[in-house]
Amino acid sequence: MKKVTIDPGHAPGNANSGPTGYYEHAGMWKLSNFLKNALWRCGINAALTRTQNEDLALADRGARGWDSDVFISEHSNAASGQTRGTECFYSVRSPGDKVWAGKLSAAVAKAMGNNDRGAKKRESETTKGYDYYGVIRSTVAVGVPHVFLIENGFHDNAADEAFLKNDENLCLIAEAQAKVLCELLGVKYIEPNKGVQPMTKTKILYNGNLDSRQLITREAAQPPARDRSPFASPSVHLHAAVDRGFQNIQ
Ligand SMILES: [Zn+2]
Repeated sequence: MKKVTIDPGHAPGNANSGPTGYYEHAGMWKLSNFLKNALWRCGINAALTRTQNEDLALADRGARGWDSDVFISEHSNAASGQTRGTECFYSVRSPGDKVWAGKLSAAVAKAMGNNDRGAKKRESETTKGYDYYGVIRSTVAVGVPHVFLIENGFHDNAADEAFLKNDENLCLIAEAQAKVLCELLGVKYIEPNKGVQPMTKTKILYNGNLDSRQLITREAAQPPARDRSPFASPSVHLHAAVDRGFQNIQ
């Protein structure tokens, strides 16, 4: 089974925010969980680097992804307030990932309706041959073959912030990323089950504080015919889903 580790970026308390109330740490926490759900649906082992309130050192985030095929760190950007768009960084040590970073950036830009700023890399100014971004550096150092840091829009831009404040839109970003990651890993992307109340109906299913009650609501909405779980009993399935889905696996 392929494994993707998702780093939700900044921890609660980080001040990065938009003009009308979006906080990067909160938006990216939601996006990371939506991506994790999407990847599990496609048969990929997906884990987060941390629980919601943990505040890890950059090196520890990378270390927690050590057994992954792909590591992706989720961020939203800031500049002058005028700039919109999406960009995705890959490691200076993995030039072959330029194409995948480009696909991730293009897919998210399309989902957000903003500019595709494309694949980028940034080399350390002090240590040539190594990455500038600590989370990329530390994840490459533990041997993860594909490492990305994606900037999903600019939260200080009014249009991008408005998009990021909507949970259904965050699901669209997650699905766009999941499709590209499936392609990278050679795994068939499985569309969300249109016949079921989807995770995107987040006013009911998601309030930013994931717990088992919300997961039960979602699992209960799954018709048995669509249940791809290896577990025969719905209750066993439920517990397995709780275990795999909403705990920090490491
Ligand atoms: Zn950030």
